[in-house]
Amino acid sequence: MPFTNIRMNGTEPMQTLSDTMHLNDSAISELLDAGAPDAAAVTAVLATAKAAKGLSIEEAATLLRVTDPGLLNSIYETAASVKQALFGSRVVLFAPLYLSNHCNNGCLYCGFRSSNSSLERKSLSPDEVVNEARTLEGMGFKRILMVTGEDPHSWFDNTIKSVEAVYKETGIRVIHVNAPTMEVDAFKELKRAGVGVYQAFQETYHRETYATMHPTGPKRDYDYRLSAMDRAMEAGFGDVGIGPLLGLYDFRFEVLASISHSMHLFRRFGAHAHTISVPRLRPAAGSGLDTVPVPVTDEQMKLTVAVLRLAVPTAGVVVSTRESAELRTALLHTGASQLSAASRTDPGGYTPNGGPEKESKESKKTLEQFSTDDHRPLVDVMASIAKEGFVPSLCTTCYRTGRTGSDFFDTTIEGGMETRCRANAILSLKEYVVEHPKNENGTMNGLFDTAISNSIDEIADEKIKKGVKEKLIAIERGKRDLFY
Ligand code: SF4
Repeated sequence: MPFTNIRMNGTEPMQTLSDTMHLNDSAISELLDAGAPDAAAVTAVLATAKAAKGLSIEEAATLLRVTDPGLLNSIYETAASVKQALFGSRVVLFAPLYLSNHCNNGCLYCGFRSSNSSLERKSLSPDEVVNEARTLEGMGFKRILMVTGEDPHSWFDNTIKSVEAVYKETGIRVIHVNAPTMEVDAFKELKRAGVGVYQAFQETYHRETYATMHPTGPKRDYDYRLSAMDRAMEAGFGDVGIGPLLGLYDFRFEVLASISHSMHLFRRFGAHAHTISVPRLRPAAGSGLDTVPVPVTDEQMKLTVAVLRLAVPTAGVVVSTRESAELRTALLHTGASQLSAASRTDPGGYTPNGGPEKESKESKKTLEQFSTDDHRPLVDVMASIAKEGFVPSLCTTCYRTGRTGSDFFDTTIEGGMETRCRANAILSLKEYVVEHPKNENGTMNGLFDTAISNSIDEIADEKIKKGVKEKLIAIERGKRDLFY
């Protein structure tokens, strides 16, 4: 197990040998109070980080205290190189699919909160979810993230039925789920339905802030939510997704707590968090917050992404459409590896006649959870990724071949994913080009073809390079779903 025992030395911010995680708030705060580090200290941490084996909490805290622009750039460059070393130039794309905006929680930051009477409530039937998934499939998506509020009557059954229906009725290859926390047996059922990653965000790891932000509903229980990933992994989920909602409390605290959470999972289950998302609080109609309690700047977003990449190098660092196109592009150069695209945060938002605001004419009530900033269609997001020298990837291989949990972690930390991810990005992009021949009269596809050929040239393993070329010809001749 390469990096936890080696890197987790010094002050221990939680009792990692326990079955559940206990975050030591004051230990984390002390690490952040130490003042800006000197250049020598930062250089030493970056030298460690370059090995792509992770960082200790103390080392991550050192980077989070940096304010010097030159040192910040060094952190970003190191994060970009670590991402490149472990996953190559691929950037994975997915879309959220909202099942329901009914919810019996009172989270102040969310438009779905139970006391928001200005929200038009809607739950999609499994057939309606299939329609949404077909629309996403038509755009080119192969992986979706189903998202649901905590509808007291039916969220669990509806989620299971929707997952099963989408697998049966569409060509969507993997479904991840962002849903309320649950007991181990329920997690087992979710896993049996074929869900890839279970995702739930702690929102804020700061206990007092958590209590303020969650005044009512089952989500009030901080510890039950914090232990959700333990139950998910006990139930057999190898891959779980964690994250803070940035803007509720000091972002540096949230980053260290997220790293601690991931380290805890590694110690118990042999796998770090599969993804760490970094959503930043956005305006939401009918939410209980007029302002962002602790605003996070764009520069702090870059540092957040970079430190997560260096401390937990095997994790997918996920950036949503809450952020502008410009910032999302910039974050690709500080270690981000996954983007959502073309997102709608209202149930039914992808169906053909849903307008951008999706407002009911009679009631003028919105259905959205929060507003997004990057409204570009998938093809435009893919094009901007390619223009930056990355390869947009629609790959779903690992979840479907059982390369999950500790297997995924071990392969990645040993450097075994770089070529696989690159090859699979090329093959999935080729499928996209073949299936969408009319993109902007072919101009986008010209860009994608160039990205494909450049990326093939960078494959060091001659056997895999030859195999990828053969598979590309097979895709042109009609074969699909080829991967490594
Ligand atoms: S090969 Fe695995 S890690 Fe790489 S992009 Fe595909 S699913 Fe993700």
